[in-house]
Amino acid sequence: MALLHDVLEHNAQWVAERSRPVSKAPHKKVVIFTCMDTRLVDFLEPALGLKRGDAQMIKNAGATLVDPGGGVVRSLVVAIHALGCGEIFVIGHSDCGMAQIDEEALRHSMVSQGVPEEAIAALRPSLHEWLGGFHDPLGNVQRVVGLLRENPLIPHGVPVHGLMFDPASGSLKMLVDGYLYAPE
Ligand SMILES: [Zn+2]
Repeated sequence: MALLHDVLEHNAQWVAERSRPVSKAPHKKVVIFTCMDTRLVDFLEPALGLKRGDAQMIKNAGATLVDPGGGVVRSLVVAIHALGCGEIFVIGHSDCGMAQIDEEALRHSMVSQGVPEEAIAALRPSLHEWLGGFHDPLGNVQRVVGLLRENPLIPHGVPVHGLMFDPASGSLKMLVDGYLYAPE
């Protein structure tokens, strides 16, 4: 009976939380751009204290920006100008797969699964740059933050913050002038 009691108690609380009206526009007026890493699923949001309806989430492989006019910036523009976001968090993480990606192995996998060589050759400017791999996840966050701050499609009044997340412990640190900082 103890388990059943716990389940019913959890359910009552869960339903009460869900009864909060959820609109398309994020309650906390923040848009988060982060990595698609599976360890961040159902882990990054609770670690940041974010609930359903609080934030817009944009994800890709590595939280990296390959095309300054591409899908990530398009989503940021919509989040800011159509959904009222006033702040951007770029959240990279340690042990990111895009820092270890083996471009030749990936190319081999593509070809072995029937992707035409011409389709790979047509990627611009190259498979390497199209993939957007990097060596240093922290450096990537700095680079993306810099590109977004300079992007004419993002208003100057919208702050862009760089952060690093640890997918093992869940710890979050802020990037300030190239250094990681966590409040005491
Ligand atoms: Zn990653």
